[in-house]
Amino acid sequence: MAIEQSLVLIKPDGVIKQLTGDIISKLSETGLKIIGSKVIQVTSELAEEHYQHLREEKFFDELISYIKGEYHTKSVLALVYQGEDSCRKIRKITGETNPERADPTSIRGKYGRITSAGVFENVVHASENTKEAEREIKLWFRPDELLYTLFPTELKEVKLEKLFWKGE
Ligand code: UDP
Ligand code: MG
Repeated sequence: MAIEQSLVLIKPDGVIKQLTGDIISKLSETGLKIIGSKVIQVTSELAEEHYQHLREEKFFDELISYIKGEYHTKSVLALVYQGEDSCRKIRKITGETNPERADPTSIRGKYGRITSAGVFENVVHASENTKEAEREIKLWFRPDELLYTLFPTELKEVKLEKLFWKGE
């Protein structure tokens, strides 16, 4: 079986419900390795790009507000997992998209809910397949934020302004 990567997001409802530790523990049952992680305040651009396949859906605007943290807290934990068959293994533990249909022992089955506006607040995102994983990882992480250079890179010259601690 091939080594794959998978993007996992602990969505703002998962963060505010303090489920981060629980979710990471549950995912550790897969034996997969974490090769990147960071806390992000999601911008509209990132949210809309991430969910571009759902642009035509009537719940799209609500979904964008949800992932940006407007209903919970403006923070998402993004993780990249790596290992054999990672997308399938992780999606099995996260459960179906609709939390009411998800296996009650899965993360979404346990902690998800459907809002009155019809959005599935399902606590986590997990890449559906390797192709989606590549697209999503490139969207959420820069090459130097990961333990390995997963995909081809190129050097570009840029004028750099970097933030330092005052007095550093
Ligand atoms: N979603 C929703 N209603 C739907 C389908 C999707 O609110 O009928 C939301 C839900 O939060 C879901 C996200 O949109 O996780 C992305 O949808 P997708 O079909 O990609 O499901 P996933 O891959 O997250 O299981
Ligand atoms: Mg999806």
